[in-house]
Amino acid sequence: MARYTGPVCKLCRRQGEKLMLKGDRCVGPKCAVEKRSYPPGEQGNRRRQRRLSDRGVQLRGKQKVRYIYGVLERQFRGHFATAEKKPGLTGENLLQLLETRLDNVVFRLGFADSRRQSRQIVSHGHIALNGRKTDIPSCQVKPGDEIAWKANKTKSDLFKLISETVQDKEIPSWLSLDAKNMSGKVLAYPSRSDIDATIEEQLVVEYYSR
Ligand code: SF4
Repeated sequence: MARYTGPVCKLCRRQGEKLMLKGDRCVGPKCAVEKRSYPPGEQGNRRRQRRLSDRGVQLRGKQKVRYIYGVLERQFRGHFATAEKKPGLTGENLLQLLETRLDNVVFRLGFADSRRQSRQIVSHGHIALNGRKTDIPSCQVKPGDEIAWKANKTKSDLFKLISETVQDKEIPSWLSLDAKNMSGKVLAYPSRSDIDATIEEQLVVEYYSR
């Protein structure tokens, strides 16, 4: 499955804000935004001073959501098209679809340090959805679904590291965690207040509505 393989810190610098794409590193002194708070490239400092057009603001808002969830443009458009067909607000529908991707739920349960890592954990077959191995990161989960580490994948150093720290992570109210058994359950669909408040989903809608 296609995924972005370039340097992720560049994405934060391009956006001009911390998107927290690298887990623990993002809260430490090594964060690239802390060290160089201007866009990447030779013209970076000059680009910072340029005023964005309305279209530029919409593009930046859309890219922010895409980068946070680690989804490539084509798949993101697919999610948007699905969100448009659902009743309710398209922007909120889109965020709900992104939140209920299996890779995001694995991250939210604390089974991974970042969405990038959770995507890898899922695609490498470490996760079972309702008892069956599921290695598709974009798979949608729904209330009642159970997500767990596969029993035969618990011998790795990665599993040891994650299982030692999982109970320290904050779990959103729409999920429940059984840290002892490294499993979790979807209790409800996430509401807007459960999702990153800094995201401006209306910019995504405006961007695709032109
Ligand atoms: Fe972004 Fe994290 Fe890299 Fe900082 S360390 S630039 S927040 S991905």
